[in-house]
Amino acid sequence: MEFRVRSAVADTPAYVPGKPAAPVAGQKAYKLSSNEHFMSPLPAVVEAAAKSLETMNLYGDPGVFDLTEEMAQHLSVETNQLVFGAGASEILAALFHITAEPGTEVVFPWPSFEMYVPLTLLEGATPVKVPLREDLGHDLDAMAEAINDRTRLVILCSPNNPTGGPVGREEFEEFMAKVPHDVLVVLDQAYFEYMVEGGFDGVDALPSHPNLVVVRTFSKAHGMAGLRVGWAVAHPDVISAMRTAIMPFSVSRVAQAAASASLRLASDVDVRAKEIARIRDDMQARLREIGVPVADSQGGFLWLPLEDKAEEFERACRDVGVAVRQLTGGVRVSIGEEEAMDRVAHVASELVARGHASGATTSGQES
Ligand SMILES: *Cc1c(COP(=O)(O)O)cnc(C)c1O
Repeated sequence: MEFRVRSAVADTPAYVPGKPAAPVAGQKAYKLSSNEHFMSPLPAVVEAAAKSLETMNLYGDPGVFDLTEEMAQHLSVETNQLVFGAGASEILAALFHITAEPGTEVVFPWPSFEMYVPLTLLEGATPVKVPLREDLGHDLDAMAEAINDRTRLVILCSPNNPTGGPVGREEFEEFMAKVPHDVLVVLDQAYFEYMVEGGFDGVDALPSHPNLVVVRTFSKAHGMAGLRVGWAVAHPDVISAMRTAIMPFSVSRVAQAAASASLRLASDVDVRAKEIARIRDDMQARLREIGVPVADSQGGFLWLPLEDKAEEFERACRDVGVAVRQLTGGVRVSIGEEEAMDRVAHVASELVARGHASGATTSGQES
């Protein structure tokens, strides 16, 4: 069927989500392809969500009043520095919508979060993908050089999805000193709670950088991916502009109730996030011992830069009932149950036994 659409739509590829897990011969299947939290939700959060279902005939509070108040207190910021949306995805979409248009450019590291590409193209703007450094950190010098008169938005992803490297405070400050003050810089911290070292809390940098927008979500460490709540913290003027591009009522009543409950349990959420970080670090060491390349990760996942062996690795994982995510240059494995980690480690040993990944143990940072 032919119908008239914006030319940008024809040029925008649809987002390809992670594959579902396919069970093999009666075994439990594991989905490690979408960075979902593998532990069951905290009971008090489920309870709060269930209770709010009783009023599903009502819209959620369009002003997200209670959650905004609680988050402002939690982060020690003003309420007018916060806006919530249907996941960090809607928050990011709003940021693209208020800045990018045909003839303008959006600068981001690559590989990074897949969505940055279609979000740029849908606005008719041009993506400027700046390759990560060899050690898989953001090449902030190259990113600063890529900024010009046409640049409207710059995105940093810390820890970076899918490679896991964080942006450090010092390199961030050096970078910000080179960015024009009227260009918005987004610090996407979807995996903030999993960071143990090397990164920093973007909220701490807000007072000295009015053009900084910190993006966070309840989808990852809070384990609420299915309820869609994300938020931005920024200068009130940036937040006001973002509100024009966020759908009213996009954060449901159930989602707001669950998010408030989860925020009240922030220390439990953090304990679980650090437990996942510990499994991540153990698994990283284990894979290195086996002899496959693994990047140093501060996210809720590991990155195996397997290059031309990535497809084979993904297939071998699928054959043992584990869905992992093949992306440009490698495979991303979300942290999951012990049994799932064991199967991935087994697939890795077999790959090495076939002589496919030998001598590649030093990818990523040292150690
Ligand atoms: C998962 C993710 C998001 C978006 O998650 P939502 O579920 O929409 O909150 C944003 N940025 C990065 C880097 C992510 O990995």
